[in-house]
Amino acid sequence: MIRTRFAPSPTGFLHIGGARTALFSWAYARHHGGKFVLRVEDTDRERSTPEAVQAILDGMKWLDLAHDEGPFYQTRRMDRYKEVIQKMLAEGTAYHCYTTQEELAQLRAEQEAKKEKPRYDGRWRPEPGKGLPPPPAGIQPVVRFRNPTSGVVSWDDLAKGPIEFSNGELDDLIIARADGTPTYNFCVVVDDWDMGITHVIRGDDHVNNTPRQINILKALGADIPQYAHLSMILGDDGAKLSKRHGAVSVMQYADDGFLPEAVANYLARLSWSHGDDEIFSREQFVEWFDLDHITPSAAQFNTEKLLWLNQHYMKQKPAAELATRITPRLAAKGAVALEATRLAEAVALYVDRCNTLNALADALLPFYVTPDPAPELLAQHLTEDARPALAGFAAGLETVEWSAPAIGALLKETLKKHGLKMPRLAMPLRVLLMGEAQTPPVDAVIALLGREVVLTRLAGYRDLLKIQ
Ligand code: GLU
Repeated sequence: MIRTRFAPSPTGFLHIGGARTALFSWAYARHHGGKFVLRVEDTDRERSTPEAVQAILDGMKWLDLAHDEGPFYQTRRMDRYKEVIQKMLAEGTAYHCYTTQEELAQLRAEQEAKKEKPRYDGRWRPEPGKGLPPPPAGIQPVVRFRNPTSGVVSWDDLAKGPIEFSNGELDDLIIARADGTPTYNFCVVVDDWDMGITHVIRGDDHVNNTPRQINILKALGADIPQYAHLSMILGDDGAKLSKRHGAVSVMQYADDGFLPEAVANYLARLSWSHGDDEIFSREQFVEWFDLDHITPSAAQFNTEKLLWLNQHYMKQKPAAELATRITPRLAAKGAVALEATRLAEAVALYVDRCNTLNALADALLPFYVTPDPAPELLAQHLTEDARPALAGFAAGLETVEWSAPAIGALLKETLKKHGLKMPRLAMPLRVLLMGEAQTPPVDAVIALLGREVVLTRLAGYRDLLKIQ
């Protein structure tokens, strides 16, 4: 039975890197009919907040990544960690260390003076035949793990290939502080063990923790999970992804008008591939996902590609559903009297030219709120020769049958009468009615706006058009 976990530290929002880890862990469990566990690593009490836990849960829900077990909170498992520490002390795989901060500082200074890597020197480490001083009074000891001193610790990383550390490089890690609280690497080990995790999929910022975790697992007689360390995600510019790059929180993408299907599909391709497939359903992803096709090198974020995917998924959705989704966004910008059928028609007309829900809402806003075209646009398109034609067209609109084809015919007739080409009339009409020069076919836009709105808006330019 495959068991994976997502183990975020709740210190902020669910960021893009965390979401990819969650997605891959979820997909791996689903692919194998296994279980996906959610564990909240909240032992850093100063930085962990309930809001951040909620942000993680919200982000996972938005991406539709349901966990099978949990969420387990590390802060609620303290007794268990303490129990394992006692067991290790009893078995001799851990020991009390009474070295004071001052002694450690002195040790570090000596090592640095000798150009050595600062490390604990094992002075309280029990060895056969080694006499230890009596515990000094009044000092609360820390507990250190008795790391092997020779040999190597290695694993075949499912994302990065074989990785090896020499035990000589690892000193005896503190697993419990003087106040008895367990430390980060130790909690992870006990959790992965207790939760029966078979595959640890996580960011490669944890590679350096892995040899320590494996050594502790071995000391506990636990099965060693397989590890897959995912390469970091770089921003569009090749630098490490950070707030500077704009949205790094998954929920920011929701606010920016991305569909969760698009973001999930996009994240799936960050370090993983299935041939040349760029667009795939969630079912296909689960069916195809494995750890054999993870790219070890860093993945680079490509906002253009995400926008392209988002537009693809928007086009797949029924216009009525998109209309429902953008209604709150339009309302927030002052649109009133949104009529669902008409809005869906407008969506269908515009969806090909918008790659986010926000862009779609913005493009449709002039259907509800009278636009205020920029003076330069008016000057550019409202040419002297077009004005009489516009006035004639406006007059014709009063009585024409209200349908796109009839409006289109009136337009052609007007052009012919004034000896003009289509853009001479279509462009100023777009600017006057929608506030911009780029819209779908103008007869369709006019039909959708409705006679009253169109005539009222054109009447607003009476003086400019020299309409009587
Ligand atoms: N809590 C760690 C983090 O958020 C992850 C630990 C792990 O996956 O082992 O980076």
